[in-house]
Amino acid sequence: MRLSDVLSKAPDNTTFQVESFLGSRNIGWGKNKKISVGRVALNYFCLKCEDNRTFMSGDELSCLITSEKIISVDASLRCPICLSSVETWFLVGSTEGFFTPAPYVFLERYTEQRRNSATRVRGDDSGFEDLLERAQLAYDHRLGAGSMVYLRQIFEAITMQVANAVDIPTTTARGKRRQFRDLLEEVDRQHRIIPAEFSNNRYQLFSELSEVIHGDSNESEALRKYQPCRRLILGIIHSVKNSGEIMVAMDSLGWGTGGSTAVTTTGEATA
Ligand SMILES: [Zn+2]
Repeated sequence: MRLSDVLSKAPDNTTFQVESFLGSRNIGWGKNKKISVGRVALNYFCLKCEDNRTFMSGDELSCLITSEKIISVDASLRCPICLSSVETWFLVGSTEGFFTPAPYVFLERYTEQRRNSATRVRGDDSGFEDLLERAQLAYDHRLGAGSMVYLRQIFEAITMQVANAVDIPTTTARGKRRQFRDLLEEVDRQHRIIPAEFSNNRYQLFSELSEVIHGDSNESEALRKYQPCRRLILGIIHSVKNSGEIMVAMDSLGWGTGGSTAVTTTGEATA
């Protein structure tokens, strides 16, 4: 594996062993070095092309040595079609140091400047891309609670939409808003929106994630659980989109879930 393969997995911070790229002689603090480690490739939705594209770096990257075990790498990535660019910055750590024959490296920090050129890849057109994007941005900046706020908004909005579409009451007999968990369980009992991966254990994993999304989990716990929580949310969106019954009900209410019609987070449709 080469360093570019690790950078291309950003923001994944797993440790990987890579081919040596700085040689065996120690390079001092503050020195810059051009490195040839393959091209960095990240997927985005290109705003100019209006399509998903793999943005690529050039063959050489600029590397700043900050210590024996930390380097900083800048790369400008371009859309291969319209040449719009995204600036990326990686702080890369190495457990044993970089000047070994096959160093172990991991992403310590990753950030990107997309200006108005790109957004994260659009995996679906559910109307929730913006919130998913915000959740991911918060996560990339290590803001655990922030990332959960956006996932929670999606979680509640989609449950509310399905409930409204299939005539499950969202308020109590006394006109108060129903407890979210209670509402979700009824929606799921009738329409199976929680993916099997999460609901097989009688809501155990789901409850745990739900607690992180909904409760007052601490920052590190929120960050640790972010990926499974996101998977849960994407799974629910997927289940809803693939449920003919729910889609027919939503369509009959004029709530297309694709194209130019988006569904707001309050559960009302906007054109
Ligand atoms: Zn483009």
